[in-house]
Amino acid sequence: MPEKVVTVDKDDCTACSQCADNLPKYFRMDDDGIAESHIDGEKINKAAIPDDDQKLVENEINECPGECIHWQK
Ligand code: SF4
Repeated sequence: MPEKVVTVDKDDCTACSQCADNLPKYFRMDDDGIAESHIDGEKINKAAIPDDDQKLVENEINECPGECIHWQK
């Protein structure tokens, strides 16, 4: 499977911090308290997730209360 890029639709984020708490490797809260994806603090909101970690991200997509974490098409 190729890398897939994950992004947070900030308009729908409830700022619950769940994704950042569960998977800080790929999610963090911005200065306004809204989530965004990242890789080592870079690739903000366009983090390309390696094969091995895609299941972890998929879990956050499924558990996100705002239903606002998506794979980029
Ligand atoms: S889990 Fe969803 S709603 Fe909660 S902070 Fe992350 S992106 Fe926002």
